Amino acid sequence: MTQLQQPASKVPIHRLPRPSATLQGALKRLSLGDNPSAQRRSKVFPTSSRGVWARVNPLWDNWPIQISKEELVELGVDLDKGEQISVEDVLKRWDPTDVLGEAEGGLKVLSSKHRLKLEPALLGIAGPALEHNLPQLDVGDAHDLDAPAKAGTSEARDALVDIISGRKVLSSGPGAEENAEYGPWSTRYTGHQFGQWAGQLGDGRAISLLETTSGLGGRQEIQVKGAGRTPFSRQADGLAVLRSSVREYLGAEAIAALGIPSTRSLAILTSPVEVAREQGYEPSALVARVAPSFIRIGHFEAMNPGDAGRNTHQLFLGGRWQEDEKDEKDALGGQGNLEGLRDLTAWVKDGIMKFDGSVKDWFLEVVKRNAETTALWQVYGFMHGVLNTDNISILGLTIDYGPYAFMDQYNPGHICNHSDPTGLYSYKNQPPRVAFALDSLGSALLPLLGYEKLNGKVPAEGWAEGASTDDVRKWEAAGLEAISDWSTDFIQTVEQTEREGWGRRFGLRTYQDSDDRDVVQDFLSLLRAHGADFHASLRELSNFEPSKIDDDAYRRAYAKRWVANTTIDLQSDSAMRAEEGITAWLRVYAARASAPAEKAAWDKDAPDGEWEAIRTVAMRAVNPRFVLRQWLLEETIKNVDDKLKANDVPGARKTLARVLDLATQPFEPYGEDGECEANPSDEDVERMRLCGLGPQNFLGFQCSCSS
Ligand code: AMP
Ligand code: MG
Repeated sequence: MTQLQQPASKVPIHRLPRPSATLQGALKRLSLGDNPSAQRRSKVFPTSSRGVWARVNPLWDNWPIQISKEELVELGVDLDKGEQISVEDVLKRWDPTDVLGEAEGGLKVLSSKHRLKLEPALLGIAGPALEHNLPQLDVGDAHDLDAPAKAGTSEARDALVDIISGRKVLSSGPGAEENAEYGPWSTRYTGHQFGQWAGQLGDGRAISLLETTSGLGGRQEIQVKGAGRTPFSRQADGLAVLRSSVREYLGAEAIAALGIPSTRSLAILTSPVEVAREQGYEPSALVARVAPSFIRIGHFEAMNPGDAGRNTHQLFLGGRWQEDEKDEKDALGGQGNLEGLRDLTAWVKDGIMKFDGSVKDWFLEVVKRNAETTALWQVYGFMHGVLNTDNISILGLTIDYGPYAFMDQYNPGHICNHSDPTGLYSYKNQPPRVAFALDSLGSALLPLLGYEKLNGKVPAEGWAEGASTDDVRKWEAAGLEAISDWSTDFIQTVEQTEREGWGRRFGLRTYQDSDDRDVVQDFLSLLRAHGADFHASLRELSNFEPSKIDDDAYRRAYAKRWVANTTIDLQSDSAMRAEEGITAWLRVYAARASAPAEKAAWDKDAPDGEWEAIRTVAMRAVNPRFVLRQWLLEETIKNVDDKLKANDVPGARKTLARVLDLATQPFEPYGEDGECEANPSDEDVERMRLCGLGPQNFLGFQCSCSS
């Protein structure tokens, strides 16, 4: 792991420097009307649109918009006298037109009387994400669990909460020069959902607030999820229920702590809005997250939707179909925008990834990154649940945490998403479904790839102007040829990364062709046969001493303990069969792990000959003791919900902070092996409980998370 350096000085959120190249400068804007409701109405942009983003300010409120009689009175409207108010006037209250202060880069801190009434409470802040992605951000006393829940005692914290909640808006405001204009935005994307073309989707409840350069280098974008409707919200309200926000907040940090690339959680905040979902009204919450970019494969599909997207018109409640706007070229009959495709490719490739190479090599790099991430999901039993092409990051980050789960009892066919009856996104189907998404990306990029192959360079602005359909077909054919081998690369990278990942988890420093069968698959088959827990089994294996290969009593005793710690409620004859199975496998494993070449690979780091002790430490550093299991998520959500209902914000914060702490340090022993003190504190006992397998009825629990 790289040693992080703290930046010399920290600044509050409104002082974060803007990078010289910004998304808004690099990519075209989608235009919306000026009236207050323009941002809140669904809008289907023509497929020929070159634009990627639209100006959207956070606005957390119900949809359809509701207003109380008291609020109407405040607005000087008396219903009893038959007076009326327009939706525009109701929404206008949110317009951030009052200048409250100056911010970095010519931006202003803006708000409105109505916005300032909101009193969001900070429920959590993720220290490790801050340290990695935004070390220069001053959050004041946000980490202090005893600091006041709402308006804090530190200016930096208040600034953070105000901006990420939408209580205040960082923007150049109206009247700024066109090229100096900057402010929050949402983006348009399309995609394939469950394998089917789904048309325009977009940031339906995500609003990006600003971008900066990390103190450690590289672009970082801060985005808030659940901050109200955008033009891409379709029929939905743009809000996120507390449940889904807690899941995202914890999930992203748990994945990052396992060394798997992910978007990161910055903070979670209460929202005053109760949202209607299948189960009735529920509290909502906002999550602020951070990543070098939130661009997905779906953004590229929007620019070149291919056959599936051609000539399909979508209508949403509150949306309207309109003829292509005059200023947008319709070169290919409303079938995408190749200039926009080039803009987006250049932005991600050169602007974000700083990739110095051809479009083809960059595509292969995107394939590689996603293959590595997918392989690590497999090795860590992580199931994403909704691998639609709009949920696959162009940077290979795990993104959009919904009904995800970590494997409990091992079952390769396990489906974690209750809304996926056929198991399209089951554990074993993850690699092929990510391959499907990458294939969609490749298809979208074909004209660029082909042009490059035929002309030897990345096309310049205006490259597709005046191109005929025949030209495009020719480019597509050449593009197909250029990347004909990508899926082999994908499979090889998945296999290689899995092999290395399993090697680490099984404590093997050398590799033999038979390992996949004798070590990995045979072990997993045992777990499957005996209903053993995936993560507990591997953690338990860290304590096994291969040198005792011939000590039958040791292997038997070890097997007994292994079964007791990794299975739940086995009848005694089943437990005996499990013990026999594992004892037999241990013999093979011990022989493999103590073979001369393998032992020598550890010996070089163990001058005093204690190679097994070193091996155990190394295995424990990759096999988590704590796993963010379904039972624990459900319990945490309920605790937080109960505490918020009882107005106990400090209690809710402490509950979340404890789980986040465990999730971000999953390899610690937490009282394992009697490493606990003679008189463990209540906190130690609680942490040990949270490391447990949980109640049987939650094993393999499927989340039916409405979001
Ligand atoms: P997901 O399956 O969560 O990735 O979401 C698919 C699409 O639905 C994305 O475009 C989301 O932005 C959008 N979406 C999901 N939930 C909501 C919501 N509550 N309000 C608006 N849009 C939503
Ligand atoms: Mg999504």
